Amino acid sequence: MKKRGVKIEKRFAINLSLDDLLKLDGNVEEAAQKVIDEAKKESSYGFDLPVMNEILKQAEKQGKLTWSHKQINSCDYCDKKRDYYVYPRSSRNHRKGDKNYDKPIYYRGIKFNEGFIVFKGMGDMCWDCCTKHKVKERLIDYIINNDLKVQVMKNDYKPGKYLKDDIRICFDCGEEILESQMSKERTLMGDGYYPSGCPKCGAKSIPFGPSHKTSNKFGFIKNPEAFEEVLKVKHIIEDYNKDKDRSNQISFFQYSSSNYSFGLDRYDLPSWNARVLDFNTNSKKYKISDKNHPIISVIVNVLSNYDYLDNEENQIHKR
Ligand SMILES: [Zn+2]
Ligand SMILES: [Zn+2]
Repeated sequence: MKKRGVKIEKRFAINLSLDDLLKLDGNVEEAAQKVIDEAKKESSYGFDLPVMNEILKQAEKQGKLTWSHKQINSCDYCDKKRDYYVYPRSSRNHRKGDKNYDKPIYYRGIKFNEGFIVFKGMGDMCWDCCTKHKVKERLIDYIINNDLKVQVMKNDYKPGKYLKDDIRICFDCGEEILESQMSKERTLMGDGYYPSGCPKCGAKSIPFGPSHKTSNKFGFIKNPEAFEEVLKVKHIIEDYNKDKDRSNQISFFQYSSSNYSFGLDRYDLPSWNARVLDFNTNSKKYKISDKNHPIISVIVNVLSNYDYLDNEENQIHKR
C-alpha cells in the first residue's frame, strides 16, 4: 500500500501456541523474534503449570523471587470461581438470596513477584493449589539446582544461594559501588541499618542530605545463609531444640546489621544476657559468650572444621 510515496505497512496481531511460534523462529523481524525468544526461555523451564514458568522468567529478570499472601477473586487451577455474597434479607432493591455485586468473595491466595502496582483481587493461584502443587518449593529447588542468579526471599524451606547486590552511584566520586561493600549506619528509627558509606571515597549518605544514586543495575553475592557451615549449625540447633520446651531451646538468627553475622541466643534469659555464641562468615571468627552451655563444644567443633578461630584467643596471640 503506497501513500504519498511512503510505504505504510499494515500490521496484524495474532496469538500463537509455542509450537506455531517455533515455526517462525529465525524468520521474522527483530520485535517479533523477541517475543519468540521470550516464549522459548519461558518454556525451557519446563514446569507443567505455565504460571510457574512465567514467575521464573520474571524472577531472573529482576534478580529476585518474592511472594506475598493475597486475597484473590478466583483461581485458575481449581474450582474457586469469581462469586459474590448474597443478600441475607429482601429489601426494596433486591430479594433475599440475590447476589450482592458490591461484595465479592475473596479466597486466600498468593502472588509472586508483585511490583509496585498492586491489583486488588488478582493473584497467581489460591493457597490450597500453591501448597498442593508445592509451587514455592519447586521454584526454589529449580533456582538452587540450576544455579540461577536469583535472590530467594527468606523462607522456612531453603535459603537461596545468592543475594542481589544493588549497584549505586556515589554522589561524591561518581563511581559505581556495590551495596554489599558500603558501610552501614543505623536508621533514624533505630529499627535497622541502611547502606551509607562509599567503599571507594568514604562519602556517607545522610538522611535528608546527599545520598548515593540508585541504578537499575545489580550484581550478586553468595548468600551466607546458604553456606555449608551455617546450614550445619542450623541443623544442629534444630536437632537440639527437638523434644525440649521453649525455655530450654536456642534461637538461631542472622544479624540485621550484617548478612555475615549469626548468633545463638537462649530463650530463658533476657535478650541482653541471652547470647551463647556469635560467628562471622566473613572474618571467620566466633565469640563464645556462655562457655558452659552444653551446645558450645558441638558448634565450635563444626566452626573449627571450617577454619574459624576463636576471637578471644586470636587477640591473645596478637598481644
Ligand atoms: Zn486453587
Ligand atoms: Zn565515592
